[in-house]
Amino acid sequence: MQFVLLPGDGIGPEIVSQARRVLEFIGQKFGHSFQFQECLIGGIAIDQTGDPLPAETIAACRGSQAILLGAVGGPKWDDPSAKTRPEAGLLRIRKELGLFANLRPIAPFKELLDASPLRREIVEGTDILFFRELTGGIYFGPSGSEDLPDGGVRSFSTMVYETSEIERIFRLAADAARLRRKKLTMVDKANVLEASRLWRKVCAKIAQEEYSDLEYDVVLVDAMAMHLISRPATFDVVVTSNMFGDILTDEASMLPGSLGMLPSASLGADGPGLYEPIHGSAPDLAGKGVANPLATILASAMMLRHSCAMPAEADAIEAAVQAVLGAGHRTADIARQGQTAIGTSEMTDRVLEQL
Ligand code: ATP
Ligand code: MG
Repeated sequence: MQFVLLPGDGIGPEIVSQARRVLEFIGQKFGHSFQFQECLIGGIAIDQTGDPLPAETIAACRGSQAILLGAVGGPKWDDPSAKTRPEAGLLRIRKELGLFANLRPIAPFKELLDASPLRREIVEGTDILFFRELTGGIYFGPSGSEDLPDGGVRSFSTMVYETSEIERIFRLAADAARLRRKKLTMVDKANVLEASRLWRKVCAKIAQEEYSDLEYDVVLVDAMAMHLISRPATFDVVVTSNMFGDILTDEASMLPGSLGMLPSASLGADGPGLYEPIHGSAPDLAGKGVANPLATILASAMMLRHSCAMPAEADAIEAAVQAVLGAGHRTADIARQGQTAIGTSEMTDRVLEQL
């Protein structure tokens, strides 16, 4: 089984190499032959080839079972007049591989509840899996600007969705709900937006005809923003459009209180999925050996679960991370007063010991 590793920039190489150690260990333990191919993306790819997503990287990704990405970008490539930017590599790989579904699990470890800005009794028991539509909607619809005679400007962005785009992400989310607690929530703004009314119609039909075993409900996005911090533990799978998902998943990422713990996956209809931590390249930490590798290690668990049909292997990694947290081991970002922080590779050592 061939995996492509895209370390990228900043702390990317440090955390991806730690996740690789865990994957190699799991491969041995469960008797799988995992192969790894490292390829260029982002700023380092610009430096070496002039292109943030070289053709060899795309070809290797297409031929792989799944892709594990670190992070791209950093101050070195922030010049706004630059021809090309590291982030362009990431947007292009999503398009090239047709990764239309972004999955983000929000399940704070009970061992880390004191890291949340919300009260323990609100966050406790939260286990949400978000499905954000990633390649359509208002971010990709017709947009433009025109000068007005009065000296002002008129600008517009258009939310466009077609039935097939809604159907494919809804089915993916509904299938996931079936394997979890069988609750599915669709979030829209159907009281105002025409495209949201299409979401509501299409989703209701599929829910009724194909997923009557699920408890299905719809929530308006403004209300959802509120519910996420008043009763996050009542949701199971949440599916929504591109912009609403962008905003709600960032809001939800604060429930666990720490960026360094959260993985995400981007999936298409077939072909390899792309897995990564939700945080960026953290240039302030790069090269210091202090970054938290757990988000990337948890991303590799998602990779085994969703792209390799290896739930036992994924469970083993997640249980090991939980045990390490339970034993009180902390990197600096999740250490509280009085707790000694350990470094990136020591944290991985602890995970390997648990495994
Ligand atoms: P991007 O624009 O790529 O999303 P960003 O500017 O939002 O990046 P990040 O790189 O995600 O910022 O990091 C924000 C801050 O969070 C960092 O400066 C760092 O201090 C902290 N941070 C991010 N990831 C980690 C990690 N894995 N371990 C520890 N701290 C982290
Ligand atoms: Mg950011």
